[in-house]
Amino acid sequence: MKSNTVPEFILHDVMLKIPYKWAAGEYMGEFLTQLKESGNIYSNRCPNCGRYSCPPRPVCGVCHTKTEPRDKWKAIGPQGTLLGFCVTEQSFMVPTTGKMLEVPYSIGIILLDGAPVTLQHRLAESDPEKLKPGMRVEAVFKPKEERLGNIFDIVHFKTIS
Ligand SMILES: [Zn+2]
Repeated sequence: MKSNTVPEFILHDVMLKIPYKWAAGEYMGEFLTQLKESGNIYSNRCPNCGRYSCPPRPVCGVCHTKTEPRDKWKAIGPQGTLLGFCVTEQSFMVPTTGKMLEVPYSIGIILLDGAPVTLQHRLAESDPEKLKPGMRVEAVFKPKEERLGNIFDIVHFKTIS
């Protein structure tokens, strides 16, 4: 017997928990370990073209030359100059937490003191009227006992001028 009724689908939302570990690699691993242990932000330089990388990279992204080794890494910041920023008003799910992002939310491009290299990171200020390129900013770290060895051991950069 045929029926003209449309089948009813039942939706069942399931949140899967799939724990995994990802190897950061020698250079990124050491960069993150230093954020956690010493509170230093490190960069390294290409001996061929002079380009700095932050976080340090094993090979220059421009000329593909092996960069300077760990004993020549340079601690930079924690202060720097805000070159640009983006304020996000639209929330979205953060892939690493599964939670919706609280908005407004701002990201800055920060030229850290000590080397011609930038780091992109959260800003404490998210009012675009209070942010201007050229402002001075400073990294705010979590208390040492709360650091996990990831980039969010730096909570954000706060404006200092
Ligand atoms: Zn290079």
